[in-house]
Amino acid sequence: MKIRVNMNKHLRQVCLTGIAVLLLLFAGSCDTGKLKIYRETRASLYTVVTITIYSDSKHKAEAAINNTFKELDRLGALLNFYSEDSEVSMINRYSGIKPVKVSKDTLDVIGRSLDISKNTDGAFDVTIGAVVKLWDFEKHVVPDEKTIKDKLKLVNYRNILIDRIKSTVFLKKKGMQIDLGGIEKGYAADRAVELLQGNGITAGIIAVGGEVKPFGTKPDGQPWRVGIRNPHFTGKEDEIYAIVNLNDKAISTSGGYEKFFVKDGKLYHHILNPATGYPVHECQSVSIIAKNAPDGYPTGIFVLGPQKGMEVLTKLGLDGVIMDKQGEVYITKGIKDKVDLVK
Ligand code: ADP
Ligand code: MG
Repeated sequence: MKIRVNMNKHLRQVCLTGIAVLLLLFAGSCDTGKLKIYRETRASLYTVVTITIYSDSKHKAEAAINNTFKELDRLGALLNFYSEDSEVSMINRYSGIKPVKVSKDTLDVIGRSLDISKNTDGAFDVTIGAVVKLWDFEKHVVPDEKTIKDKLKLVNYRNILIDRIKSTVFLKKKGMQIDLGGIEKGYAADRAVELLQGNGITAGIIAVGGEVKPFGTKPDGQPWRVGIRNPHFTGKEDEIYAIVNLNDKAISTSGGYEKFFVKDGKLYHHILNPATGYPVHECQSVSIIAKNAPDGYPTGIFVLGPQKGMEVLTKLGLDGVIMDKQGEVYITKGIKDKVDLVK
């Protein structure tokens, strides 16, 4: 299905929160029966996290929210590519030298990333770390071609060896670097929901950057409605181009507009092709919808481009919404009737 974005509806119901790719919508009242809405936004996992829950007890809600942020901070400390003392940095430091013993969380996230690499023909590949480090989106550094070529030799997910019994990860080539930045937020969103439910919370929605995951039934009985941010680079960043009605599914979004700079008239962003080391421009925004936060897939599909991306989604039985470089929107059959396009 291919549609041009030209509809204009639902805008007045939209309530924008945080700087996430996706903006949360609450069409109903904020106080339904005995249940009250509690919401808190903090920085965690090097992004903005918003937890929104319904509860009949302020005390229970606050405890659940605090426990969840604590867990997200713990995951951030294990998985961060840029801090020296994370487990990921330890794995990277010993690349080509020896396997590193890690926690179940780190092992699970890397395990998930390998599945996504296989399913996207390597378009998603966390071993892109050595190339990611060459780019600097704050200082607007475009690495030179030869250095990129050189570091590309270190990019190949097949060179990650996981030993589930010993709980170790080994990167086969010296200098190899894994960067879980494209997948850790989804894993964290799934964990957060588990934790909130374990703390007795039956309904809510969490946003970890571009990962949005609702759970339970909204007290007003309406579906969870989530907006996808307009990817245009100028002027319209605070608007949304589509609204997705989710039941108990999660939505993950990747867009080139999240981290980018323009140099000598050329646009560079943070979603890189593992085959070339450069940003890919075929898509502007990719959202994937699935039971578990499908983080990683939007990045991989973004790299594959809209045509190949739609083929892969269909093959995998995943649902998604893609906006290509011309602004054409592609929606998989399974969610056609759950997506409203907005101008
Ligand atoms: P965000 O970090 O805004 O959620 P993404 O989920 O799209 O954005 O992930 C992009 C991040 O993933 C980059 O900042 C980089 O750290 C890493 N990355 C970039 N390209 C790839 C790729 N092809 N495969 C895996 N990770 C990637
Ligand atoms: Mg991602």
